[in-house]
Amino acid sequence: MSDETQKSRLSVLSSHLTRLPPASSLMASEKEAALAAAPSDSPTIFDKIINKEIPATVVYEDDKVLAFRDIAPQAPTHILIIPKSKDGLTGLSKAEERHCEILGCLLYTAKLVAKQEGLEDGFRIVINDGPKGCQSVYHIHVHLLGGRQMNWPPG
Ligand code: AMP
Repeated sequence: MSDETQKSRLSVLSSHLTRLPPASSLMASEKEAALAAAPSDSPTIFDKIINKEIPATVVYEDDKVLAFRDIAPQAPTHILIIPKSKDGLTGLSKAEERHCEILGCLLYTAKLVAKQEGLEDGFRIVINDGPKGCQSVYHIHVHLLGGRQMNWPPG
């Protein structure tokens, strides 16, 4: 291959690479969304998903919980597990004793979905809470992340 051809191939390759947003900017936009979201008990986009008013890729559903793929996946598998009835649980910090059953259901569903998704080698569960916890949707949800090696400490 001539030097010129090699140079032009490299420039095409690097133009593709530079069009991808760097990981740090993806993280920044998540943080911005979280800081812009005002904590509230109002209906959220997740109510629209529960009511099938907007589409989502549902991977599990029963009478209490719904699990669907995150629209902006942070791992090859990224699923959100939510209660169908929020019952004041905008976030984990609002939990009261009466919520113990639904909180258990969310975690148990995460385990079922992890198995269904073939995450035998491990996965991560995340619950963001409040602006500092990077929460952007005020309807409690469990993130199930898997399909890649996770790191510790988290960012
Ligand atoms: P959090 O930042 O913990 O509140 O997580 C909210 C998550 O909801 C983010 O990971 C978003 O990508 C995700 N999300 C927002 N809107 C949708 C949607 N319409 N369908 C699927 N996931 C969504």
